[in-house]
Amino acid sequence: MQRATFGRRRTPTPLSLLRSTPLSATTSRRRFLTTALAAGACSTGLVACSDGTPPNSSAVPGGTDSRPAGGSNPPTAVPVTTGRQALDRLLAGNARFVAEREERLDEGVARRVAVSKGQHPFATVLGCVDSRVPIELVFDQGLGDLVVVRSAGEALDHSVTGSLEFGVAELHTPLLVVLGHQRCGALDATIKAVDAKQRTAEAGQIGYLVETLAPAVRQVAGQPGDRLTNAIHANVDMVLGKLRQSPVIGPLERAGKVELVGAYYELDTGKVIVS
Ligand SMILES: [Zn+2]
Repeated sequence: MQRATFGRRRTPTPLSLLRSTPLSATTSRRRFLTTALAAGACSTGLVACSDGTPPNSSAVPGGTDSRPAGGSNPPTAVPVTTGRQALDRLLAGNARFVAEREERLDEGVARRVAVSKGQHPFATVLGCVDSRVPIELVFDQGLGDLVVVRSAGEALDHSVTGSLEFGVAELHTPLLVVLGHQRCGALDATIKAVDAKQRTAEAGQIGYLVETLAPAVRQVAGQPGDRLTNAIHANVDMVLGKLRQSPVIGPLERAGKVELVGAYYELDTGKVIVS
């Protein structure tokens, strides 16, 4: 199960985190997250905006906020209501990136002002920390378009999983992508650690990362083909499996509210290939 991969490190539970805050004991975790994470969360309807704007009010000054996820994006963009539409939009952006015809529609002053009071991202993406895989650039998306969570080798822990849950449950993105990538250094290092049968943890928390990623390396042992590439794909599949066990994400997927997709980014070509 997901928590079994967290290794020996003891991570504070959400409740203990709440106790360390000045919030009242009756404050729910959801309320805490919604209040603390983003001013844009006011648009989720759970809290009033910090500027006094009531919940569910317009995200665009002067506009009527009845649009679905992705609907506040540039007028030229097709509104996104389904995971399929969100994926099409991501892949269209990646095609622009590959062809070096990036539009950067969402980075201007007008866009910044438009999303300053609320956000309607159309996809949540978990990717690696690799400096060569900047998520918004790879998909040619801009301000307010994506909820991006990054960790080495897409390793899951409480914070990563919670952030992804926030993206799909509170910001209502209809798509959750787990993006692995070619020549992932985190998985390459894990292969070396597994081969060396390292029993002692690396310095800091790197050993924790290796422990978390090691099951994917072990799963592909003896398989034909490139070992690292196999491990990268296996890791994406395992991360998706763990996310489906989330009591937040799993039910949303089964209800058709969010689509979970695995993908692979090729460093050589810039292409994102959906699993
Ligand atoms: Zn990587």
